Amino acid sequence: MTGMTVPLLTVDHLRIEFATRRGPLVAVEDISFAIAPGEVFGIVGESGAGKSLTGQAIIGLLEPPGHITAGHIALSGRRIDNLPYAQMRKIRGKQIGMIFQDPLTSLNPLYTVGQQLVETIQTHTDMSASRARSHAVHLLEEVGIPAAESRIDHYPYQFSGGMRQRVVIALALCVNPALIIADEPTTALDVSIQAQIIALLKQLCAEYGAAVILITHDMGVIAETADRVAVMYAGRLVEVGTVRRVVKQATHPYARGLMNAIPSLHQHQSRLVQIDGNMPRLTDIPGGCAFHPRCPKCMAICREKRPNLIKNGPVQVACWLYDDTHQPE
Ligand code: SF4
Repeated sequence: MTGMTVPLLTVDHLRIEFATRRGPLVAVEDISFAIAPGEVFGIVGESGAGKSLTGQAIIGLLEPPGHITAGHIALSGRRIDNLPYAQMRKIRGKQIGMIFQDPLTSLNPLYTVGQQLVETIQTHTDMSASRARSHAVHLLEEVGIPAAESRIDHYPYQFSGGMRQRVVIALALCVNPALIIADEPTTALDVSIQAQIIALLKQLCAEYGAAVILITHDMGVIAETADRVAVMYAGRLVEVGTVRRVVKQATHPYARGLMNAIPSLHQHQSRLVQIDGNMPRLTDIPGGCAFHPRCPKCMAICREKRPNLIKNGPVQVACWLYDDTHQPE
């Protein structure tokens, strides 16, 4: 994060809990990171790691019984996690755009894509209807919709999955947001289309100067797209660093396992090394380091005490192997 002046987004000691009859369940704990304007920040982990909840908390869309119980979130220095619904809704439309796994989450099936683009543009700017429409056509061209002039009057069901996700990218970008949160944006798409959509997202966000939080289980997507990456496990950050560094030389044993799972085009022998075991359920997070039952390097202290995220050379890592306060056995 060197050279970051005023961060665009700051997440500080975020904690998310689910209220249950048996008491609160902690789903996300002590998450802190900052994103610079225009930066592409990846959050990666297996399903259940808490990465989508973190994204939902940032845009104020956490669904009850999930709620933030500690920490705060600020956009350009202004706290946004405690805003009334109407104010947060404005920020969601204007300053933070969203792209979800299923494009139909963002598109209304009853309206043409043009109506939806024009309405969004007009809600957040003072453009006339005809200017908003030409801007919408221009955006559809930019996201690679052929014959945008006529396709603008089509309904979402008349587009293929990949084309629909292109429309959603146009919708997310149409009011020039400072930040886009993309949660598994290509997971539902055909593999052959995934790379195109990721490349498009990266290129357009750079063009529009929008920062991106890219949430995915796929380290390959992060490797091709993000500047920095945060690896999550069981609701916590276990490693944060530049993608270049983490992909080449991950520090945390879990992050190393994830990197080994990136298929390599250059190696005939598959590098798909799975990490043994599964991410623990929320109700069953092991004490000490949550990764210890799966960790090949587990030591006695790992079963007892939880490691904190601390600086280790160019990365931050939460692992007793790198904590000087721990004396090796
Ligand atoms: Fe493995 Fe221990 Fe590090 Fe956890 S703290 S990742 S169990 S070595």
